Amino acid sequence: MPAAPAVEAPPLGARASVVREQLLRKLTYAVGKDPFVARRYDWLLAASHVVRDAIIDRWIASTRETYRSGRKRVYYLSLEFLIGRLFRDAASNLDLLEPLREALASFGVALDDIAEIEPDAALGNGGLGRLAACFIESMATVGIPAMGYGIRYEHGLFRQEIVDGRQVEVPEDWLSHGNPWEFERREAAYEIGFGGAVEGREDWDGATKPTWKPAERVIAVAYDTPIVGWKGKSVTTLRLWAARAIDPMRLEAFNQGDHLGAVTERMRAESISRVLYPADSTPAGQELRLRQEFFFTSASLQDLLRRHVQQFGDVRSLPEHAAVQLNDTHPAIAVAELIRLLVDVHGLSWEEAATLTRETISYTNHTLLPEALETWPVHLMERLLPRHMQIIYAINARLLADARRLPGADDAFIAAVSLIDESNGRRVRMGNLAFIGSHKVNGVSALHTALMKETVFAPLARLHPDRIVNKTNGITPRRWLFQANPGLTALIRETIGDRFMEDATALSDLARHADDASLQEAFAAVKQANKQRLAALIGERTGVRVDPSALFDVQVKRIHEYKRQLLNILEAVALYDAIRADPDRFPVPRVKVFAGKAAASYWRAKLIIRLINDVARVVNADPAVQGKLKIVFLPNYNVSLAERIIPAADLSEQISTAGMEASGTGNMKLALNGAITIGTLDGANVEIRDLVGAENIIIFGLCAEEVTALRARGYDPRATIEATAALKDALEAIAQGLFSPDEPGRYGELVGSLYGGDHFMVAADFAAYAEAQRQVDRLWQDQVTWRRKAILNTAHVGWFSSDRTVREYAEEIWRVRPRVSPDLQS
Ligand SMILES: *Cc1c(COP(=O)(O)O)cnc(C)c1O
Repeated sequence: MPAAPAVEAPPLGARASVVREQLLRKLTYAVGKDPFVARRYDWLLAASHVVRDAIIDRWIASTRETYRSGRKRVYYLSLEFLIGRLFRDAASNLDLLEPLREALASFGVALDDIAEIEPDAALGNGGLGRLAACFIESMATVGIPAMGYGIRYEHGLFRQEIVDGRQVEVPEDWLSHGNPWEFERREAAYEIGFGGAVEGREDWDGATKPTWKPAERVIAVAYDTPIVGWKGKSVTTLRLWAARAIDPMRLEAFNQGDHLGAVTERMRAESISRVLYPADSTPAGQELRLRQEFFFTSASLQDLLRRHVQQFGDVRSLPEHAAVQLNDTHPAIAVAELIRLLVDVHGLSWEEAATLTRETISYTNHTLLPEALETWPVHLMERLLPRHMQIIYAINARLLADARRLPGADDAFIAAVSLIDESNGRRVRMGNLAFIGSHKVNGVSALHTALMKETVFAPLARLHPDRIVNKTNGITPRRWLFQANPGLTALIRETIGDRFMEDATALSDLARHADDASLQEAFAAVKQANKQRLAALIGERTGVRVDPSALFDVQVKRIHEYKRQLLNILEAVALYDAIRADPDRFPVPRVKVFAGKAAASYWRAKLIIRLINDVARVVNADPAVQGKLKIVFLPNYNVSLAERIIPAADLSEQISTAGMEASGTGNMKLALNGAITIGTLDGANVEIRDLVGAENIIIFGLCAEEVTALRARGYDPRATIEATAALKDALEAIAQGLFSPDEPGRYGELVGSLYGGDHFMVAADFAAYAEAQRQVDRLWQDQVTWRRKAILNTAHVGWFSSDRTVREYAEEIWRVRPRVSPDLQS
């Protein structure tokens, strides 16, 4: 319990005393507590309600204005929204943070303490879900009328614990204390069908309408969360669907004593929104996943069609008033569902419906990894969504007819554009369906978009050469600079004024000051303070003591072979060996920070986590290292942990196999906070280099073309390992059990996978990576130059603001004009 509040409140600022009154009222009447007995959570709830009230007025105003003006709306469909905490975000965007801090302090409550206990809304796995969260906030900021649609998972991404070096997944329970940010909308509920059969003739142009008679129906109920933009300019709605049974229970069964049977249907219906699939870029391929995808897509389309018809009367004007963006293929069934609703429910002709659908929908591709491209078995689709399967066949018939007319169209070409993959037991290709049903298809970085055109979508791009465009990802500077790094934000304001807070590209004004000794000192002092805070957290969570003046070398992201945490830890093993041999050769002390979750079923990624922890244990306990290397694995990487780690990073590890990371956004967050990148020419790293200048980033290793060429030529990992002594020694040490004496064979298979193929080119890039790390050491020894480069990184990456990204979408894809132009913002 906090200290008893001061009997007489100290003098407060004018806003703070208004807020203090509101806080007290909320605590009393919304939470039902007396300030003398209120606990931290009660204060958080009261403070959240104060912020919420301030949002609601603007929310209603935004919604009313969109309705009144008849402006086009953007509907962002995403199976994932990785929001994190909302309290600080909303309070900061409404400029309520400082008044609240003062008001709470007058009751003896520290704002930072209560903000810490808000659970993360972890309704996403990683980058894709975080992108959706940044976009929603940016659309509110730049004034694009928008709604995010997703699923209200009862359990978000699992909590990761590390037990004896191993990842253990623990269920997450973010709703257990209630959620002050959401509003249940009982009136916005829709029926979603599954299974059953299609009745009526399949005559597209004739008069008979096919009708789908689902065998099973569930209800989608809306929960709305307001997302407030910077300075509260406007508010967008995140509408998440929860699944409910039509009948809460079968009373008859219950009365006959079958208490479980009475609720099985309900359990089955509600399982749809029970839990987020914890796989990042590998489709789960299970029926429940397809149910989730169709459930939220259908609810969202029914909802937006109802809104459109209510306001404009005629579905034929849909593309003038609505833009539907598909975040990856997870909602790709929208193509067939929208056609179904337009033809079967609204009575349009096939041609009309297909055209309206294409004009309304667009699709963002997030990966080129073949194993990550979603496909569904035809038999499963036929059973679960029989009407949609008919529609997909009908789209395909027209698509293949068009394809055959192309000069030089051979069987291989036809097979490649088809919506049905016949090579692998007949499967529906969701990427091809999304492509064909969209007027624009975008990649998420310049390199990724270029590769899309050359690889997965090359055949379809021959049919539609103008359809693929690039929209390089972005991050919201509000969360990833202002909130996560208040110290740096204050320093930038002192140095160049406030303009960057409206337009992040104005950060470039900092470049003029990059050589100022006083700015360099102050910049380093902010970093040092952030590192001290992180060092304390590391001590708390892992028990490892680290020196805050060491170089903080950070790799935080999902654990995946293509992201190559293995390359990083192998280099750490080689460095460990070299330090032990001759400590004086290594004057730069380093702390290597890892964090990230592995998909529960991805055993090799989990083995890499274990290796990092095993190596960390040995290295951290070895006095011969003289404190020059510390390795920590911080458990349970999520948005809130990212907000703590990123401002404290000196070095940003972005070392994926070139050609495999679509964009990355962690790379942008870290550069914005003044970390220098060590990375490959992959994803948006290429654009980071272009913006900050090749001299302010450390690029190493094979580029995408070289990877392709080396694979084509025949890559021999064994010969490469034999020729790289430091790597060979590191692998031998690991394979012999130096880091796993209790089980020497633990990593035999992992090491063997490098010798036996090394698909991710770890060995091929090792020598270049190790050399790049020594370059980092040399640079660190020249602190003036390091600080200068760090400042220039912050200065030049404002372009990665997601405000810029959503403006580009608005102009080229959605055809909607933002309300606030960058020059007019004030
Ligand atoms: C930004 C972010 C990511 C994406 O990181 P990448 O390095 O781009 O893979 C993943 N998880 C969280 C919690 C993030 O904040």
